Amino acid sequence: MKKFYLLTPGPTPVPQDVLNEMANPIIHHRTPNFKAIFKETNELLKYVFQTTNPIITFASSGTGAMEASVVNTLSKGDKAIVIIGGKFGERFMEICKAYGVEVIEVKVNNGDAVDSLVIKDLLKKNSDVKAVFATLCETSTATLTDIKSIGEVIRDTKAILIVDAISGLGADVLKTDEWGVDMVVSGSQKGLMMPPGLAFLSVSKKAIELVEKSTLPKYYFNLKKALKTLEKDDTPWTPAVSLVIGLRKSLQMIKEEGIENVYARHAKMSEATREACKAMGLTLLSSSPSNAVTAAWSPQGISGKEIVKFCRDKHEVFIAAGQGELEEKIFRVAHLGYMKKFDIIIAISAVEIALKTLGYKFQFGKGLAKAEEILSTC
Ligand SMILES: *Cc1c(COP(=O)(O)O)cnc(C)c1O
Repeated sequence: MKKFYLLTPGPTPVPQDVLNEMANPIIHHRTPNFKAIFKETNELLKYVFQTTNPIITFASSGTGAMEASVVNTLSKGDKAIVIIGGKFGERFMEICKAYGVEVIEVKVNNGDAVDSLVIKDLLKKNSDVKAVFATLCETSTATLTDIKSIGEVIRDTKAILIVDAISGLGADVLKTDEWGVDMVVSGSQKGLMMPPGLAFLSVSKKAIELVEKSTLPKYYFNLKKALKTLEKDDTPWTPAVSLVIGLRKSLQMIKEEGIENVYARHAKMSEATREACKAMGLTLLSSSPSNAVTAAWSPQGISGKEIVKFCRDKHEVFIAAGQGELEEKIFRVAHLGYMKKFDIIIAISAVEIALKTLGYKFQFGKGLAKAEEILSTC
């Protein structure tokens, strides 16, 4: 008999009620029926993004909205600051470079968060910077960036702040308008409890000024077109109808729980996961841990990939290895989206059994006991 547990930082599990919504017969998108659904969904998105700005939905993975944020705001030769703390910061840099944007790289060590004073200083020295790219949760290192403080140093400059919140949205606190985030990029398959296939991009007034001037090539991801049709609860191209219908349901669930409670649930699950890892004698990668995912160094002599493979092949528990240079060195457990406390128990138990079988010496059950202790109070 097969029974699997998806505990990766994307895709994440999808609630049955959401799956059921998406199993309904397909409807046409240029109809009052779909437009009403799309309108309601867009209002719910604003609640989760904590913004009054319009939010564009693309039929693509999250990277599509990352690309859209670049090609719609910048022009060839423009200067941008990109904070690079791992694989996804790197991706913003790669997209910028692919379009001929001049990148000022702000590299931070794996697991560390950037100091906003570094950004402040760079902006002072480079008053012609058009955009600053940051990542709310750098999923590859499980690290949270302090977006609020970065927003403060950018607010009174000409530059706009673009934040990749693909994994962070709905897990880590993000106050788009209050913190002055001009563009928030996200995707469906992480905190929003949906399958992959939708990408989102919120657009502030300050960002629209750049959109008006941007000359980088674009066609499918044309924000001007998308913003114009959005006013009529419509899209330039065929939307991913079933996914939008599913999204309305998952966003309703988030609203019902209340965004503050959703953050609190993620905070508790992440605390339990971190403390359980420490109780097993493991060291965490991040000094600024996210609520969405936890990364721990794998013990001496055991590769992170081996732990992940063992959990998958022996127990059908899907956790994640590292990415890039961290592939063998760490393993990552997500506590993201449609997850609750007993998902953490499953993850920690699977990791303990894997570590013990692979020869790591520690007191069996110690991590589990710690997780239970923390989670029993919620
Ligand atoms: C998952 C993720 C992405 C990539 O999203 P895709 O949907 O795979 O294109 C980008 N940034 C972050 C921070 C992510 O976690």
